[in-house]
Amino acid sequence: MSNESDEPSGSEEVNSYNDYDSLLKEARENLPEDISHHDRFQVPDIDILQEGNTTIFKNFTDVADMINRSPEKILKFLLGELGTAGEKENGRVVFKGKISPSKIEEKMEDYIEKFVLCSECGRPDTRLVKENRIDIIKCDACGAHRPIKGKQVKTGASKKSEKLEEGEIYELLIQDIGKEGDGVAKKAGYTIYVPGTTKGDKVKVRINNKTGNLAFGSVVGG
Ligand SMILES: [Zn+2]
Repeated sequence: MSNESDEPSGSEEVNSYNDYDSLLKEARENLPEDISHHDRFQVPDIDILQEGNTTIFKNFTDVADMINRSPEKILKFLLGELGTAGEKENGRVVFKGKISPSKIEEKMEDYIEKFVLCSECGRPDTRLVKENRIDIIKCDACGAHRPIKGKQVKTGASKKSEKLEEGEIYELLIQDIGKEGDGVAKKAGYTIYVPGTTKGDKVKVRINNKTGNLAFGSVVGG
């Protein structure tokens, strides 16, 4: 970066640069292995190839090995999430259609987040076990365990359930009766009026319209 005028004249300066660089290098190399491993778990590099009308996940079983999960389960997850068909062949997966590598990567990250990483310590040294028919992730690194569903509810799923959309049907508990005699339920920050219901009812309600934080719905049969 320096040019003629700044060019070091003596060997001293050159040496000090070299020293600094080599010191830095040495310091990096001498970092204890486990410091870098304590960082957020890195999703293994996945190798995707688009070929004709197919997309090939070339190192699929290697990645499955790395995260210590059954290839069949991962594949099932991927196919469901990607909404496509695909088959395992010699350690690779061949998906039907062109799928962008970043999309597959994203789904693998989702999988790892949901089914592999410990929510306490963030490490991938976990096992899936079943307790009372519930899938549980047990962490060998810190001993924590959590149900898989619990994690899902905390992330995307809860946001979805906290929405109230017009035209959608929700199962609601009538918690109160409004001035006009309509049942009143609450969800996602809305107060929902449901005619023909009474306190304590659990009903399926179609949301007819919303205004401000009020919503109006009607009971649907069933
Ligand atoms: Zn842990």
